[in-house]
Amino acid sequence: MLENKNQERTALEKLGEFGLIDHLTKNFSITHKSTIKGIGDDAAVLDFTGRKIVLTTDLLIEGVHFDLSYMPLKHLGYKALMVNLSDVYAMNATATQITVSIAVSNRFPLEALEELYAGIALAAKIYNVDLIGGDTTSSTSGMLISITAIGEAKESNIVYRSGAKPNDLLVVSGDLGAAYMGLQVLEREKEVFKVNPNNQPDLSPYSYIVERQLKPEARKDIFELLKKLEVQPSSMIDISDGLSSEILHLCKNSKVGCNLFEEKIPLDPTVISACEEFKMDSTVVALSGGEDYELLFTIDQNDFDKIKGNPSLTVIGHITEAGEGAHLISRSNTKIPLTAQGWSSFDND
Ligand code: ADP
Ligand code: MG
Repeated sequence: MLENKNQERTALEKLGEFGLIDHLTKNFSITHKSTIKGIGDDAAVLDFTGRKIVLTTDLLIEGVHFDLSYMPLKHLGYKALMVNLSDVYAMNATATQITVSIAVSNRFPLEALEELYAGIALAAKIYNVDLIGGDTTSSTSGMLISITAIGEAKESNIVYRSGAKPNDLLVVSGDLGAAYMGLQVLEREKEVFKVNPNNQPDLSPYSYIVERQLKPEARKDIFELLKKLEVQPSSMIDISDGLSSEILHLCKNSKVGCNLFEEKIPLDPTVISACEEFKMDSTVVALSGGEDYELLFTIDQNDFDKIKGNPSLTVIGHITEAGEGAHLISRSNTKIPLTAQGWSSFDND
């Protein structure tokens, strides 16, 4: 977890808009040759000399996408960047630059924004992206953050959602459902705290799932692993909304069907135990939970040997002809149609 140490409160009015921008951005350095001009002019200038550019943007709103009662600002900054970088890696591209736009109400002191930017700076350093601009404005209520991420790739390496073919293998990185179960723990502790603010929760048994919620990592390592293994996925998407809705996106865009095997879905043991505690079905959580930021992709069967046995990658199913539809094959070998919410009711089958 990330430390939060600054307890002072400096009003934002003391710095003014330009002073604030300078203060928040002065410690960022430029490392990419493609960044010709970063912060400090009317626009940034980039040069990708013949390579394709991918660009993605996300808007996060307090009370809708994050809750500051359990999300420390440093984590929020880190996570806001991960959400975007994950989309760049899902195109099989290298993330190179970001812009960060924020709107804040006067309830936030300078130190709060320093925390937010400390998280952004840490993520930018680890993931090697240049901060090249943004916008800063006030908000009448709460905080908004919008990040745009830019990446680059050779045209032939870009992977779309639309390239899956029948008989391709369906592969996922990491494990699923942890971020959602982490959120359940944090929401429960928030309610406990409301009743008894002196209660110090012991979250240590839940550290993995809470960390997956508060400090997710975009799978830059998987993007690099695929390059190293010389595997070019036929289609790819990142898992932000839950496995089943992402599979349906791949199937719809590629005009194919698929069979997903319930028993193959990778789950961490702490997700299984948290599901037991919260009386939730771990398959439903993996299918519908969301915020895992893992990569879901398809590969040609001939590439199976290249990924076989890799602990970060799990084959969870295969692609079929469109007419066969998208199904979950349950542990008891029942074929259940996938829906964006997980699956359609068992009794329909
Ligand atoms: P303009 O008036 O042209 O919009 P600004 O005064 O808003 O310019 O911004 C000045 C410079 O600082 C620009 O390079 C802009 O991209 C950058 N910038 C503004 N806000 C932020 C921010 N929150 N984070 C990073 N860079 C920022
Ligand atoms: Mg501006």
